[in-house]
Amino acid sequence: MARAFITGATGQDGTYLTEHLHGLGFEVHGLVRAGDPDPANPDLLTVHHGDLTDRPGITALVDEIRPTQIYNLAGLSSVAFCWAEPVLAAEVNGAGAVFLMEAAWRLQERTGDPVAFVQAASAEIFGEAEVFPQTEQTPIRPVNPYGASKAFAHLSAGVYRARGLHASSMILYNHESPLRPPSFVTRKITQGAASIAKGEATELRLGNLDARRDWGWAPDYVAAMALAAAHAQPDDYVIGTGVAHSVRDFVVAAFTAAGVADWERYVVQDPAFYRPVDPTELLADASKARRELGWSPTLDFDQLVARMVAVDLDSADANSARG
Ligand code: GDP
Repeated sequence: MARAFITGATGQDGTYLTEHLHGLGFEVHGLVRAGDPDPANPDLLTVHHGDLTDRPGITALVDEIRPTQIYNLAGLSSVAFCWAEPVLAAEVNGAGAVFLMEAAWRLQERTGDPVAFVQAASAEIFGEAEVFPQTEQTPIRPVNPYGASKAFAHLSAGVYRARGLHASSMILYNHESPLRPPSFVTRKITQGAASIAKGEATELRLGNLDARRDWGWAPDYVAAMALAAAHAQPDDYVIGTGVAHSVRDFVVAAFTAAGVADWERYVVQDPAFYRPVDPTELLADASKARRELGWSPTLDFDQLVARMVAVDLDSADANSARG
């Protein structure tokens, strides 16, 4: 029986990955932390309550589940939050990932059954990249605590791969969906545009509008993870669309999708939302994933923005119906 163990199972990616692997016939087990939301799809997985920093607990869980695949999606996912909690970022995103790789490797050694491990790394490991677009060969030079913690986990996947674990690291560019919390700029913008369209808000306060990101559709990114786990050889893969847009472009697309013509009347630039250091542009060259995994994105930028705005317009409707 193919069994998958997903940490961070109730986050955006965990929710989509649970659906995807369930659809592929996997028995899905998810690690859910105290304080996390309940799973959106409780029928599709077995929930295990625990924490990546509880080492004996995680070892016991991995030994009990005996997964054939482990996906490490747990961690502090917000760059902004990691500036506030840099040591926690190192412990959870960095050391937590290594600990899980060690548990996977030991399980494989003990049982003789191969375990495929997938690490959710991030484009933030490249920091202020000087090469555009970035590939798996681009120098790793993070510029914030989030990127540094993810770089450590990414490099550790290479270490465990050399040790005989089928460990792949997915260098994921920003990937968004209606499941994104508004701590990310995309959802903040789509919620803001929808609220303004409904007359429920009069302004949207944002930071740096010139930052450029390669934004993709989150379900495409979890599909890439599953392809990597099933591939004959483990490896590192850059996953992104290859097209970058500015935060301003996102604002324009979202206000247009919400039917608000003059976005400049509503958007206020607020220094409170600027970052101490912020990569100006991140842009993926995913040609290796396209070639070796047969992966490609299914939605482009405008489609992604339109999907998110449509959901937020609907929930604004629901709010006004209730209120
Ligand atoms: P990140 O790329 O993982 O940090 O994803 P975010 O969605 O948090 O931020 C993307 C970009 O949007 C960064 O360059 C931020 O500096 C920029 N940005 C501009 N205004 C805001 C804001 O109000 N909130 C957030 N989260 N980011 C903002």
